[in-house]
Amino acid sequence: MAEEKQVHHVVKSKSMVTTEIDLDKELLKIPGLSLLETDLAEFILQEDDWDEPTHIVFPTLHKNRNQIRTIFQKLGYTGDNDPQHLARFARKYLRASFLKADMGITGCNFGVADSGLINLVTNEGNADLVMAIPKTQVVVMGMERLVPSLKEAEVLDNMLARSAVGQKLTSYCSFSTRQVSGESDGPEDFYVVIVDNGRSNALGTPFEPVLQCIRCGACLNVCPVYRHIGGHGYGSIYPGPIGAVLSPVLRGYEQFGDLPFASSLCGACTETCPVRIPLHELLIKHREVMMNKLHTDKSFNNVIMKGIGVATSTPAMFRMALTADHVAMAPLTKHAPITVENEYPEGIIRKAPSMAKGWTDVRDLPEMPKHSENFRSWFKQHHKEQEAKQDD
Ligand code: SF4
Repeated sequence: MAEEKQVHHVVKSKSMVTTEIDLDKELLKIPGLSLLETDLAEFILQEDDWDEPTHIVFPTLHKNRNQIRTIFQKLGYTGDNDPQHLARFARKYLRASFLKADMGITGCNFGVADSGLINLVTNEGNADLVMAIPKTQVVVMGMERLVPSLKEAEVLDNMLARSAVGQKLTSYCSFSTRQVSGESDGPEDFYVVIVDNGRSNALGTPFEPVLQCIRCGACLNVCPVYRHIGGHGYGSIYPGPIGAVLSPVLRGYEQFGDLPFASSLCGACTETCPVRIPLHELLIKHREVMMNKLHTDKSFNNVIMKGIGVATSTPAMFRMALTADHVAMAPLTKHAPITVENEYPEGIIRKAPSMAKGWTDVRDLPEMPKHSENFRSWFKQHHKEQEAKQDD
C-alpha cells in the first residue's frame, strides 16, 4: 500500500504489535521510503541502531541519560545530559518529520466495535500528531483489542493508566476514525489492520485469558526474575511474566519453551494484574503441556524434579537431603583463602557436573553450609535461647 500510494515519509507512534511483526524493517526495504518512530523511547531505540525494547511501557528502561546523550550527539545534539534538554531536542527534531509525513502508523489500545473508533492513550501526544497530519493513516491492532462500546473502553483506559504509570488518566486519551463526510479534517485514507499472528492459538485453550492483557506492564514491575535480568534476557519483545505466557502461545514451544521455566512462581504477577490473568497458573500450565503433550515427561530434568519432590516431601526427608547435599558437594569444593576477590570462607564450587555445569561455567557457588551450621540449626538454637531468656 505504501508503494502504491507513493509514500516517502512515514511517522509512527509506539506500537508493540508492529514491533512484533517487524513492520518497520519491512517498510524500510521499500526504496526511497523513510520512517521515523516518534515515541521518545522508540525514537531513541531507532537511533541506537534499532536496539530492542526492554519493557512494554518503558522501552528504554535499560538506558541512562548519558547513553541517550551519546545517541543524540550523532544527530547533532551538543547539550548536557539533563532529561529536559534531551527531550526538547527530540521534540524539535521530530516536529519537522511530522510536518512532511505522508503516512502515519499507530497501534491501538482499544478498538470500539459499535462506533469504529480507535482509542489511543499516550503521555507525549505524538500519536495525536501521527493521526492528525498525514493524509494516509494506518492503524495496526491486535485482534484481542476490540471492546464492545465506549463504556468498556473507558474502564480499561482507566485501569491501563493506573497500572502502567500510576495516573488516573494519561495526558492524551484520543479517539479517532476516518474522515467524516462533509468535514475537512481527518485522514483521506484510513486503514485498520487487525492482526492475529498466533493469537487465535489461545482460543478455546486454558491460555485464552492471556488475550485479556491490556499491556500495562505491571506484572513486569513486580516480577523478581524480570527485575534481576531485565527485558533483553527473554529474547521476545514481550518480556516478564506476560511475555513468558504469551510468547509460547504466539510462536510455539520450540522458540520460547524455556520462558515458562524462568519463573519462581511467587504469584506476584497474578496478584498485581488489573485484568486478573492467572499468570503464574498459566506458567505452570505451559510446563504441564510441555511435559505431557511433548512427551518430555521422562526427561532427565523431570527425573531430577521428581527426586527433589520426594526429598522435600516430609521434614525428615528434607533434613536428610540437606545433610546428603553437603556430603555430595564436598568433592567439588575448593577451599580457597579468604581474599577481597573470594568472599566465601567455606569454600567454593567452581565446576559442577552435568546440567549444573551451565551455572558454574559463569559463576562460582558458595559451598553448602554443614547441617550443624545451617539456618535451621541456627534457628533451633536461637529459639531455645529466646525461650530460656523468657523463662528467666
Ligand atoms: S498480564 Fe496483566 S499485569 Fe501483565 S501487562 Fe498484561 S494486563 Fe498488565
